[in-house]
Amino acid sequence: MLTTAPPTERDQFSPGTRQLLDRASAYCAAHAGRLTETRRLVLGLITEASKPVGAYDILDHLRSFQKNAAPPTVYRALDFLLAQGLIHRIERLTAFVGCAHRLDCTHEGGCGHRAQFLICSVCGTVSELEEPGIARAIHDAAKAIGFRPSHATVEIEGVCAQCQTR
Ligand SMILES: [Zn+2]
Ligand SMILES: [Zn+2]
Repeated sequence: MLTTAPPTERDQFSPGTRQLLDRASAYCAAHAGRLTETRRLVLGLITEASKPVGAYDILDHLRSFQKNAAPPTVYRALDFLLAQGLIHRIERLTAFVGCAHRLDCTHEGGCGHRAQFLICSVCGTVSELEEPGIARAIHDAAKAIGFRPSHATVEIEGVCAQCQTR
């Protein structure tokens, strides 16, 4: 018999993604947040995507779970996930990627995770580079002229190793 019930997370996400979502859930609970069902679905959709995803693509997918999902639902979920450090926003693409760093981080009281993003202009994938020297150089150069930086986004466009061998 055919059923018209909306798909559940179990139908859509791989076991690996569901495991990450469980860890994210525990992380949020331990940091005075709550990974609600909507936030969990949004994080799952970003995690499963092989490339950065935009808010409207997320909304389209989310609607297969929640028929009435509206843009503010997605933006609120994204804001929460950004604040928890579970995703990054790629400014150049106005899109989001997952980040497991916070879940693996062993630093006490907020880590200094400062990533740079490598955007492949051929396949569209984004990978994270974490080179402490870059963040330090930005900080020091700004400070040298009396500017106090609070946030810096470093996005590098180019061709990834895989695409270069194709
Ligand atoms: Zn990251
Ligand atoms: Zn590529």
